[in-house]
Amino acid sequence: DALVGVLALQGDFREHEHALAACGVATRRIRTVEDLDGIDALVVPGGESTTMSNLALRWGLMEPLRALVRGGLPAYGSCAGMIMLADRIEGGRTDQETIGGLDVTVLRNAFGRQVDSFEADLDIPAFGPAPMHAVFIRAPWVERAGDAVEVLGTVPSGPAAGKIVAVRQGHLLATSFHPELTGDTRVHEYFVEMVREQA
Ligand code: GLN
Repeated sequence: DALVGVLALQGDFREHEHALAACGVATRRIRTVEDLDGIDALVVPGGESTTMSNLALRWGLMEPLRALVRGGLPAYGSCAGMIMLADRIEGGRTDQETIGGLDVTVLRNAFGRQVDSFEADLDIPAFGPAPMHAVFIRAPWVERAGDAVEVLGTVPSGPAAGKIVAVRQGHLLATSFHPELTGDTRVHEYFVEMVREQA
């Protein structure tokens, strides 16, 4: 069965490991280039994308990760992970390097600073009919998305109503929120299904 690499340079990779274990897949922490050998998919956790990016560059992981994602490796990113999978960034350092692959422009810290972290119930049919309780922590949203990007979910109401917070583009999946923190494994199950389809 599938072996999912979880980028473990920084951030809430342990929570992703738990969610993936609940879906019945094996995981491996990715910290070196050697760790990438033989993985069927990649999860990029939430955390701090500038730190994650700097560490990936320092450990020589950035180019190998880009090559894998370009080559079709299924990848899922939550929050900072969404930023890492985005082709373009606005808000803060626009020269911040990413793995990329998703034809989107993300706006970092889009909802405001720490005080503006919030929770909302989202309707995301791709993840099932029940509303998804979503936790946003200094989260990005997708400011612009290319034609190949499928918008899976938006904020239903409030000042950020209509903002894009879940997207898929072929083998790539990203959410602004953190399903790994809520015990709702539907996003991870959806991703594991993507991985199995690809295999
Ligand atoms: N604000 C963080 C960043 O820009 C993301 C926050 C998170 O992952 N919870 O990388």
